[in-house]
Amino acid sequence: MDTRHTEHQDRSDSALQQRVDERTAELSQALAVVEAQKRELEHALRMRDEIQLQLEAELEDARLLHGISAMLVDEHNVGELFQKLVDAATLIMRSDFGSIQRYDEARGELQLIATRGLSDEAVSYWQWVHPGRATTCGHALLKSQRVVVPDFESWNDISGSDDLIAFRAAGVRAAQSTPLLTRSGRLVGMITTHWTRSHEPQERDLRLIDIVARQAADLIERNSAAEALQHHARKLVEADRYKDEFLATLAHELRNPLAPIRNGLAVLKIGKPEQAQRVLPMMERQLHHMVHLIDDLLDVSRISRGMVNLKRARVQLSAVIDSAVETSRPLISAANHRFTITLPGTAVWLNADMTRVAQIISNLLNNAAKYTPPGGDIELVAEVIGGEVVVRVIDSGIGIPAAMLPRIFELFTQVDGSAERSKGGLGVGLALAKRLAEMHDGSVDVESPGDKAGAVFTLRLPIMASTTNVADDDGSDGAPAKARALRILIVDDNEDAAETLSLLLQELGHVTSVVTEAPKAMAAALAFQPEIAVLDLGMPHLNGFDLARQLRAEPALRNTYLIALSGWGMEEDRARSRDAGMDHHLTKPVTLRDVEDALLKSIVAMGGGISKRS
Ligand code: ADP
Repeated sequence: MDTRHTEHQDRSDSALQQRVDERTAELSQALAVVEAQKRELEHALRMRDEIQLQLEAELEDARLLHGISAMLVDEHNVGELFQKLVDAATLIMRSDFGSIQRYDEARGELQLIATRGLSDEAVSYWQWVHPGRATTCGHALLKSQRVVVPDFESWNDISGSDDLIAFRAAGVRAAQSTPLLTRSGRLVGMITTHWTRSHEPQERDLRLIDIVARQAADLIERNSAAEALQHHARKLVEADRYKDEFLATLAHELRNPLAPIRNGLAVLKIGKPEQAQRVLPMMERQLHHMVHLIDDLLDVSRISRGMVNLKRARVQLSAVIDSAVETSRPLISAANHRFTITLPGTAVWLNADMTRVAQIISNLLNNAAKYTPPGGDIELVAEVIGGEVVVRVIDSGIGIPAAMLPRIFELFTQVDGSAERSKGGLGVGLALAKRLAEMHDGSVDVESPGDKAGAVFTLRLPIMASTTNVADDDGSDGAPAKARALRILIVDDNEDAAETLSLLLQELGHVTSVVTEAPKAMAAALAFQPEIAVLDLGMPHLNGFDLARQLRAEPALRNTYLIALSGWGMEEDRARSRDAGMDHHLTKPVTLRDVEDALLKSIVAMGGGISKRS
């Protein structure tokens, strides 16, 4: 019985133990779960704290950036704006110094425009930085990307350089430079922050400095656009003032010759031959002066519009100089100047437009004569230097102030309006000379030691390599020959022009007939049977081109030599008149020499009267 009781007792004890064990296991499992949950909770709490810190930092950064933007919007002084951006950059980067540089495209270098904390010595030492210089900004400029140097002492690219010594003197140990790029990717400057201890900026710092860099780049871009606008506005105002001044000068200069011409006409009307003899040369001189002024003006405007074609040919330098001297001699002699010419010992050939090069040289000679008080010295010296001929016009005149030398070749520029200098001109001659020289691949320069010390103008032109003697291209040696008497029809709606040309031709011994209404020209031509017809191109009702076609189509007039008379002498005008059947093209104003040349050519073309077209 006892034994049975004990067995029973044992069984119930072990069952109890088993239950206790099971419970214990369950409990420790539950405990493990709780532990795991506790760890998870702790992790989550840590995460929450971290996120909160991060959020706070980002909020702080956002506040900082917002503050910067607000400050930029409020500030309108550009210098102050850059200063504030540097301040913001040093704050964000927790740096000791900072700087903003602007990229100067013309120099290809960075220029300091705002700094924070840097000493005066440092500012002047790094005022300009070229690409590749031993600084973070120099390297960032070279690579067009950010350069970070945590410690200058261990940066190989700087060791042994003067910049390292300067960094030490300025107390700079570490720096980063971030390029300022516009939205289109153009580099416009650099933003740099410096530390007095070795330092490596964090990712967050670099992210923020990028935002500041973008604002600085926008600011520089906006600012240079505004500067360019202001510059243009100033230029416009200046141009407007120049235009007014020029118009006043133009009116004055064109009026000047008119008064003596009008007086001369009054004298002519009185009809006393000996008085007429006296006033005619004066009237001719004044007229010549006026035509010269207007020609110069027309030339400049045509050259600026690219409408002047050079008629280049092989010409001898001495011939060009002779022609220029012939033009300028009256002015030089009138002022009693001593004039000497020195030419190279051998013949020099140019591939040039003879008239235009002579025009350059005579412009320089005329100026020398005008701007030298009477009885002065003028020299023309031509020599060959290398592959060029160098023609110098040297005078002992009033000279040109140094400040004006760079501007003297600009259109409408005159040194000043004082009586001494105002010599009847428009400030066009030198601009014209320079442009014509450039069209010949040459140049014109000036030197002057200053007031009353004279001036030297130097024309340089390339010379032709070969110097074998060949006759000039146009075949005529220029000596005017006499034309035989011809029957010439003149068709021009400008009665005065037609009458005067007719008088001139009659003086040369020709027989003329004048028609001022183009539609009547055909009948007149059939009746008059001219050997030559001079046709104005711009006429109402029937222009010269169409009239030429009609005359050409008439069998009875097939052999008439047709000369176009036009205000325009451009190649396309000449081509148009050729197409219309014209044989020759004369550009107004026509000189006696032009007419004689044209008539001679007509005789040659007609084979001394024999049909040229059959
Ligand atoms: P213009 O003689 O018609 O005024 P230019 O273009 O020929 O125009 O010359 C421009 C200006 O340059 C002149 O008004 C004059 O002041 C100055 N100049 C030109 N040549 C000389 C010179 N040889 N000596 C002094 N001044 C000169």
